[in-house]
Amino acid sequence: MLFSELPIDSRVLKSLSVMQIDTLTEVQHKSIPHALMGKDVVAGAKTGSGKTLAFLVPAVNRLLTSRPLTKADPRAIILAPTRELAKQVFMQAKKLTATQSSISVVLIVGGENYNDQVKMLRKKPDIIVGTAGRIADHIDGKSFFLDGIELLILDEADRMLELGFSDQLDLIHRAASHRKRQTMMFSATIDSAAVHAMTEKMLKAPEQIVIDNVA
Ligand code: ADP
Ligand code: MG
Repeated sequence: MLFSELPIDSRVLKSLSVMQIDTLTEVQHKSIPHALMGKDVVAGAKTGSGKTLAFLVPAVNRLLTSRPLTKADPRAIILAPTRELAKQVFMQAKKLTATQSSISVVLIVGGENYNDQVKMLRKKPDIIVGTAGRIADHIDGKSFFLDGIELLILDEADRMLELGFSDQLDLIHRAASHRKRQTMMFSATIDSAAVHAMTEKMLKAPEQIVIDNVA
């Protein structure tokens, strides 16, 4: 299936074309149509299968085409287990939003100056990509409001739990409590008890997708 066959905004298609991406990978094919309908999604697929665009395409499409839930920014939080992985997601999000100027993205990770990040957050970015620890710190510090968070995305959920971010994920999920929030969880594996418990807690009637994980 081609991205051009999906009911997505022409600005998203334009960015994908600049990125030279036209055909959906399997995990994208199985998850994006559900995510575009606003459903919660939990998907397990191995590294390199294209999970980043599987959540970024529907997320950016929603931000471009739907009215914000509230006047409060930001609208989406994307969490990754490490600074490096968060940066990779941030770079893809920048590329996917590069053909228009209405969606802004910031990277909020540990190891960077906290007050500089507060300044970035005060500018009301649409999408925050980052690591759970530092984003939880900013929630504690009231650096931004979460009433308008309509998308919460957990990338590599299994690794975030292995790294001990369970409490921070819980804090972020409870703070971003709009009832119309859409939540997506992507992981290499989704069958551990810990991932299952988090899915139960954070996702509503999710579409579950598992791609053959045998490498
Ligand atoms: P994962 O998160 O599942 O490990 P990534 O999202 O990082 O995988 O994608 C792996 C690579 O595949 C990236 O370089 C990305 O640009 C590329 N990619 C993703 N989707 C497609 C696609 N539909 N067509 C071609 N390349 C793609
Ligand atoms: Mg990934």
